[in-house]
Amino acid sequence: MTPLAPLVLPALRAAGLGLALGLIGAVATPVGAAPLQQPAATLYRGGDILTMAGPKPAYAEALVEKGGRILYVGPLAGAIKAAGGGARQVNLAGRTLLPGFIDAHGHLVLASHTLLNADLIGVKSIPELLGRMKAHAATLPEGVMVEGMGYRAEQLAENRHPTKEELDSVSTTRLVFVQDGSGHQGSINSVLLKQMGWNASSKDPAGGVITRKPGSSEPSGHIAEAPVFAVLAAKAPLTPAQIRQGVGKAVALWTANGQTTASEMGFGLSDDDIDVVRQMLDEKLLPIDLLLFVKHSFLEQAKAGRSAVVAQYADPASRAPRVDSDGRYLNRVRLAGVKFWLDGSMDNAFMSQPYTNNPSGNTEKNFRGLAVDPQAAVETTVATTWKSNRQVAGHSIGDQAVDNFLVAIEKAYAAQGPADHRPIIQHAQFLRPDQIVRAKKVGAITSFTAGGIYPMGDYLARLMGPERLAWAGAAGSVQRAGIPWTIHHDMPAGVSPSLIYALWNIVNRTTKSGVVLAPQERVSAYDGLRALTINGAYQFHEEKTKGSLEPGKLADLVVLSANPLKVDPLTIKEIQVLETIKEGTSLYRNPSLSAGGATTASVPSSAPINEKDNCLVPHDHPQKPLNPAQQAAMDRLLAPRP
Ligand SMILES: [Zn+2]
Repeated sequence: MTPLAPLVLPALRAAGLGLALGLIGAVATPVGAAPLQQPAATLYRGGDILTMAGPKPAYAEALVEKGGRILYVGPLAGAIKAAGGGARQVNLAGRTLLPGFIDAHGHLVLASHTLLNADLIGVKSIPELLGRMKAHAATLPEGVMVEGMGYRAEQLAENRHPTKEELDSVSTTRLVFVQDGSGHQGSINSVLLKQMGWNASSKDPAGGVITRKPGSSEPSGHIAEAPVFAVLAAKAPLTPAQIRQGVGKAVALWTANGQTTASEMGFGLSDDDIDVVRQMLDEKLLPIDLLLFVKHSFLEQAKAGRSAVVAQYADPASRAPRVDSDGRYLNRVRLAGVKFWLDGSMDNAFMSQPYTNNPSGNTEKNFRGLAVDPQAAVETTVATTWKSNRQVAGHSIGDQAVDNFLVAIEKAYAAQGPADHRPIIQHAQFLRPDQIVRAKKVGAITSFTAGGIYPMGDYLARLMGPERLAWAGAAGSVQRAGIPWTIHHDMPAGVSPSLIYALWNIVNRTTKSGVVLAPQERVSAYDGLRALTINGAYQFHEEKTKGSLEPGKLADLVVLSANPLKVDPLTIKEIQVLETIKEGTSLYRNPSLSAGGATTASVPSSAPINEKDNCLVPHDHPQKPLNPAQQAAMDRLLAPRP
């Protein structure tokens, strides 16, 4: 990545700087001159520099970055001195500088392959869906499967999935596959049906449905559950060029949304994951940090297969530590922990008491949702990692799921005593007051899927009734209890990749119908920003290097068009990310900046796009055995690090 030009050319016109003008200024290196021995410093000034360093907002007049780290934060005069000669200046021109955002729960690895598909999120009709698929097909080489993802049958004018005949209009020679937003259903064209061997005389695979045409046994094209995973498993593996392209797209999406640390909260969800990460390591594809939380069953498989190929496979150059990152990372990838699913989506959240109203199509009496991963495995893993540097994160939407995760943590706490483990209660959609007390005692973190409040809040109210709404995404209560909570986007399973949009949700808690969901759970914009910065760093044991603007920390920065603390809270979602900087290197600049820094009035990716999903990614498919190169990549990640 080439560093981009400063936001605004230096213009030290502030009164009283006098002699300082002689000390600082953008110094162009003459052509042919010897390169500087020390990297030049960059001085930021002229806007709100919000340090996020304490429980109350604190501003600095200037910040100096040098060699990827923050050298100085404080008054301008001291900054000029600290920056030294030849420093580059950035006049923020009234904009806001913050620590780079930390993605507390996303799926960057998964996004690296789903972003290669046609984006079907928000399509309103089958002709529109087919149009997007045809446009996508035109960009692909002949022979590559044409895939799309993200439509919702109930949001289409036709209120159904596409038929094979409709998908045949995309291609009659290539394989065509569309997956809905949940990832559990989809449709395929005639060529793909034929390749899979599914026809009028074939039986449905166990655990799934091949829908037939009315009054006939001929497949209609629609498939659900097991056949969807069978199609995914039969896909040709991604080529190295596709992986490079997919990782590039995912990184572009994360950095356009101000994130300098990304996460994959389900490494091993897809068979492609391991090859994506292997190539990230081998080719140093990542300009931002990536934390991996491994799907529990995948980790067990990788550990069982620990191989001897690592020594001959490992390239010493790729292991060379980076001066700009902490030693737990390998080429910006860190295997930070293990991920469990204590329950599923909003439609089957595991509750201690039955739903008030069942999800549509569900007629089960006293329906309470369901448990997913075996409790014994959760308890064993929490116990064995309790005093190690591998964290455990538990997907827990319903209060019974939270309870089960807490029980596992409490057992480890009782047997081994307190530890700085920081188990992460993921989603924490229904968190009872008594559970907040228990979480605090064992040092657990809660991470809320804030972006769902606006699009899903009314749906939640219908499912769970008014009393339990008080527990929904209870950030206010958790804040008052003194637990360092975070918010996350969960992309590509979430609503929007924008953490600004998540912030707007957690601060206002307004639903689509205009109701404020449990008003007592609203938080201040500052506490919401802490959830994206210093608390995110704390959640991952990285608060010593990230999350606030303090000397010695990494210069991971984001420039916003406005200060979230100084605008009407209802307009927070209109704030734009203007620039994203990782360890001093600019990775993203908002296109609106190209014309001399003028900003546009366009709203960022804040429109709700995916209503019901909540980390609904299928996670229970059987994993293929690892090949030697994949096993070697896992061995490198599993090797003991500080
Ligand atoms: Zn997730």
